[in-house]
Amino acid sequence: MKKRIGVLVNSENDFALTNKLEEEKFIYFGFKEKIGILERLKGNYIHIKLSEYYREMAENSFLIRIAFFVAYAEAHKCKNVILTDKVNDIRKITYNVAKYIQSIKNLVKQGTMNNMDLSFINISEDIADKDEDVPTNRFDYGKCEILYSGGIDCTVAAYLMAKMNKKLLLVNFRYGQKNAYEEKYCCNYFKENTAKLNCELLVEDLEGYYKDIMFSSGLLRDDLVLCEDNEVLEYVPFRNTIFFAICIWLAQYNNIGLIVSGSQGDDAVSPDNSPLYYESLQKVVELQKETYGIKIYPVLLDIGGKPEVIKVGIELGVDFKYCWTCHSNAKWISEIPFQCGVCSDCSTRYSAFEKNGLVDPLPYCNKPRIRKKWVGPSKNLNCILRQIENE
Ligand SMILES: [Zn+2]
Repeated sequence: MKKRIGVLVNSENDFALTNKLEEEKFIYFGFKEKIGILERLKGNYIHIKLSEYYREMAENSFLIRIAFFVAYAEAHKCKNVILTDKVNDIRKITYNVAKYIQSIKNLVKQGTMNNMDLSFINISEDIADKDEDVPTNRFDYGKCEILYSGGIDCTVAAYLMAKMNKKLLLVNFRYGQKNAYEEKYCCNYFKENTAKLNCELLVEDLEGYYKDIMFSSGLLRDDLVLCEDNEVLEYVPFRNTIFFAICIWLAQYNNIGLIVSGSQGDDAVSPDNSPLYYESLQKVVELQKETYGIKIYPVLLDIGGKPEVIKVGIELGVDFKYCWTCHSNAKWISEIPFQCGVCSDCSTRYSAFEKNGLVDPLPYCNKPRIRKKWVGPSKNLNCILRQIENE
């Protein structure tokens, strides 16, 4: 079978790559509905559909543009991706082209399931560059965005930042996930009942974008029951990078210095939760002129895994009745949401409560299996608080 390579085309000129290598199959992706000659290439050009709001973002942010592209290419099983940008295009974004290109490549490799390779066809591999003036941006580190899904981890992360007197902006993404209703329920609860935490809620709607690649993830498909044996299907192509790219954009325009996620050590399924992934993402942010100074902070990665997060959550007074973890939607009985009990997330949640000698306040339709492998504790709450203070 031919190796599939995804190319992001901006104009007709980018199309000249087609006949380069016989053993490779090029698939072209673009944000324009039709690009001249590509119209004739039926089936070979995939239009990445975006609402006007996101199209404008993609036009203005390189990171958002490539995140939207790589997710589509991954969904369409491309092994490699190619960008056609030239040195001068990249120089507008960064103060060091060579380092920036390398950091974007690392991000794509770390953030995709099969370590996708990204190459810049119009920029020489051995380009060297020295730092131009490093920017002197000033962001407000008293404000933080939280990637908020209504789960245990991001809720504990939000409480942790509130305890450090940060002003919170919860950003919730709707992308066609099965448990969208439950997420909304938890978001609204958080907003209405934790007003003292000084927070605002912002909902980003990516459903239109993900509609055309919903086949690529079990989280988006209604025809599939998620269970522990197919947990790999819980991965949504390049999702976290899209979320972060949008959050970085929001931070840039709202002068927010911190972007916090609830990733913890037991999130082993997705590549875009790993410490290496976060390192690559931070590097990209640091090398961009406009975003230099923004800090990506997976604050729970230092605590350990799910059992440790629950322990910290209890110390902070989190009510886990209003945190939804299951990747399926709930079965509502007498206004109480029942979790499926068969997906890997249910097993992790159930076992993590048990490990703390506690009973999950939310019921299950089926008794989950006990999880055996844990990453284990790393630092305790006081240690983390001191660390945030020093950042
Ligand atoms: Zn479940």
